[in-house]
Amino acid sequence: MSMRLKGNEVSQKILEDTAQILRQLHRASKLCIVRFGSDAADLSYQNSIIKKCDSVGVNVQVAAFGADITSADFMRRFRELNASPEIDGILVLRPIPKQIDADKMQDALCAKKDIDCIGNLGLGSVFVGDGKSFAPCTAQAVMEILKHYQVDLCGKHAVILGRSLVVSKPLAMMLLEQNATITICHSKTKNLCRITREADILISAIGHPKFVDSRYVNKDMVVIDVGINTDENGKICGDIDFDSVEPIVSSITPVPGGVGAVTTAILIRNTVLAASKST
Ligand code: NAP
Repeated sequence: MSMRLKGNEVSQKILEDTAQILRQLHRASKLCIVRFGSDAADLSYQNSIIKKCDSVGVNVQVAAFGADITSADFMRRFRELNASPEIDGILVLRPIPKQIDADKMQDALCAKKDIDCIGNLGLGSVFVGDGKSFAPCTAQAVMEILKHYQVDLCGKHAVILGRSLVVSKPLAMMLLEQNATITICHSKTKNLCRITREADILISAIGHPKFVDSRYVNKDMVVIDVGINTDENGKICGDIDFDSVEPIVSSITPVPGGVGAVTTAILIRNTVLAASKST
């Protein structure tokens, strides 16, 4: 029977610490959520962020745009939000509509308000490892779970499934900073099972429901499931086939209640930290 790495427990601790930082600031802090259209998953994510922000005392402004807004109109409004002294951090819900110039948006976003690291400046900072910018919240969430449960990373072999800039590549750099040895796998990787079975820590961020089953794991493995998918019955599930993997491995994050819960808490902490830097 493996140990359950509970995201809610980690999230609770981060939110308590964040509330404490906010109290010491003696000023309000505001997160701006930029949303295009009314996708159900975006609305659900937005609502969960607002709920957690309320619990800590962080204000939220939702900047909702039609999915068909022109890039020029969007950029005009985005620059105003970026310049607002009341807004400490900006989260852009992705994917963004095709007609929006993503490069322009990223370049326009002030680095100190880039709390989810969408700009190249922030990503550069993560790759250099200078700690000057916020890392992507999900990558931070994975690191926070490992730290909370005292998973020793030094000299350990971490295998990451996925090579996205949103999660996997920055996460690889952050694990490397902690002296783990990293293997990054992707859709063209051959003999995936053989590689993953060698891992001390397996992190999956591929977006395929229940893809990783008992063939991919070993009994001493720490398994972190970043995936958020829906299964054949419309239920939320991860990339890991939890029922087949959980009885084998040493510890595992559930979905829901794992990485996702921590990601939101990190986002709020980053907003308050951004406020503290501009005070
Ligand atoms: P993405 O940009 O679509 O990247 C998926 C990656 O998985 C790609 O690098 C792809 O390889 C790789 N991949 C696909 N099929 C594979 C296979 N069979 N074997 C090995 N690698 C494979 O996805 P993402 O944005 O990183 O998100 C990944 C998952 O994490 C999604 O389920 C998303 O919903 C979830 N997510 C969760 C959180 C959270 O807070 N928990 C936050 C963000 C994302 P190629 O590069 O070769 O195509």
